[in-house]
Amino acid sequence: MKRIGILTSGGDAPGMNAAIRAVTRTALANGIEVCGIRYGYAGLVAGDIFQMTSETVADKISRGGTFLYSARFPEFKEEEVQLKGIEQLKKHGIDALVVIGGDGSYHGALKLTRHGYNAIGLPGSIDNDIPYTDYTIGFDTACNTAMEAIDKIRDTATSHQRVFVVNVMGRDCGDIAMHVGVATGADAIVIPEEPYDIKEIAENLKQGFANGKKHGIVVLAEGVMDAEKFKDELLKYGDFDARANVLGHMQRGGSPTMRDRVVASEMGAYAVKLLLEGKGGLAVGMENNKLTHHDILDLFDAKHHGNYALYSLNKDLAK
Ligand code: ATP
Repeated sequence: MKRIGILTSGGDAPGMNAAIRAVTRTALANGIEVCGIRYGYAGLVAGDIFQMTSETVADKISRGGTFLYSARFPEFKEEEVQLKGIEQLKKHGIDALVVIGGDGSYHGALKLTRHGYNAIGLPGSIDNDIPYTDYTIGFDTACNTAMEAIDKIRDTATSHQRVFVVNVMGRDCGDIAMHVGVATGADAIVIPEEPYDIKEIAENLKQGFANGKKHGIVVLAEGVMDAEKFKDELLKYGDFDARANVLGHMQRGGSPTMRDRVVASEMGAYAVKLLLEGKGGLAVGMENNKLTHHDILDLFDAKHHGNYALYSLNKDLAK
């Protein structure tokens, strides 16, 4: 193996730059050249490929987003488009690839491996929704960003004795909501994975105000329902003032936290090690604080399991 490529694909996540840096520097240290591929699979097919040096990744570790840019490129599902990508890999002398992204991106990595180009997937997603990893690159930063935003919302909630229903990201996964809910002392966490009773939530909020509480915070995972709709439902059972707030894309941005930078660095170096061993079609994970890898194919049949003990814990702590 003489030269590897690296791309970021799907939704961006803070820490992707730290992963690109780790892949690049680990490869260079092992005498392997590195090509950066801009705009994910779209850039691969278009040949938007350039040689990277150690300097290319300098001053990037603290930056959010991905300096290789990302793209949604559904055309890559088609074999003829994949073959165009393969042509570019051949043209640039790239023998293997590291792909940072979510499960869609892993499909692409698997297809490339089947075409004879070993590809390793790194879990880059704020949602923490990828199986066989306790942790995805970007999750910690997104949680901290949401936590800080909710702390601010709580100030105004208290001043006006209001309930705020705060919609956090995560798609169909409640991990951001669970962690942020516990971290902000939410009165209720509502996630897609657990049943909820909106009347009971309203009763608890009412009881809280009756006990002298000055605010109510409901952390709602985006996969459950729209925050405005949830707030309207809540008001059917509660006589309090309530507002809905959608944190939105701010959760994707910002300088990565220490944890995201460290995990991204560890995973990036590990991915290169796997490629050096001639392995491909694998997804890197962090399980019980240890680096692991699994066949990408196994991920498609598996489900991510969050730490649902946090959900129960919050119920106890909110009383
Ligand atoms: P996120 O979790 O942030 O959405 P993702 O990687 O799952 O990240 P997707 O948009 O689903 O995001 O996929 C990213 C890219 O991976 C797609 O735009 C496409 O180029 C490629 N891709 C997705 N599915 C496949 C597939 N079945 N075969 C080949 N390539 C795919």
